[in-house]
Amino acid sequence: MCPGLAVTRYSIVLLGAVGVGKGTQAKKLAEALKIPQISTGDILRAEIAAGTELGNQVRETMDRGELVSDDLLIELVRGRLDKPDTARGAVLDGFPRTIPQADALEKLLAEFDLPPPLVISIDVPDALIVERLASRRVCTTCGATFNLNLDKNALTAHQCPDGKTPNVVLREDDHPETVQRRLAIYREKTSPLLEYYRRKRALKTVSGVGTTNEVYARIAIELDSATE
Ligand code: AMP
Repeated sequence: MCPGLAVTRYSIVLLGAVGVGKGTQAKKLAEALKIPQISTGDILRAEIAAGTELGNQVRETMDRGELVSDDLLIELVRGRLDKPDTARGAVLDGFPRTIPQADALEKLLAEFDLPPPLVISIDVPDALIVERLASRRVCTTCGATFNLNLDKNALTAHQCPDGKTPNVVLREDDHPETVQRRLAIYREKTSPLLEYYRRKRALKTVSGVGTTNEVYARIAIELDSATE
């Protein structure tokens, strides 16, 4: 290899319950590292909005706050990693969520010549998560998210890119009873991944309490120390 031309590849996984800020942090990290963010929830919501067969297949499961099947998600991520923009890696947000998905991810990353995942778990107490999600609003037209506590005018002031008609609403799966179900599913199905990645020495944990920039700074420190 020519000196100075070594290419750094990143496989970063953000783990954490619903509402800890994975999406926000994944976006910032992806921009900083110039690699794509792969949010399986966003991909599935886009399929639903576009009325595709896949979207219709997953809509009810998602509205109930339950997990879509491992096979479907693994194929979805395989298809996404197959695109040329992931040549230097990706920030994965919302995948893996189960042990079979984590096993599959390891194989997929090897298949696409990417390094084993570096996993950052973001921790926020459940009570704060429920409070955050009750004030989260999303535009179903363009996907932008808002926090009503920070931006009281989000409902009326939002303008979609390309002049499309905005539709800012509480996400179907952010209703408090559905949030409780999603937290329970996280504890049962996803939290075993913490031990899974700890054993592989791939896990870093940061607190998700504080401003976006404060949490981002904690993640950046962990990434620096892991990639030195
Ligand atoms: P999120 O936006 O990451 O909270 O995901 C929203 C919903 O999409 C979840 O509640 C699941 O129904 C579905 N989903 C997203 N990612 C996965 C995954 N890795 N495995 C199973 N279901 C998923």
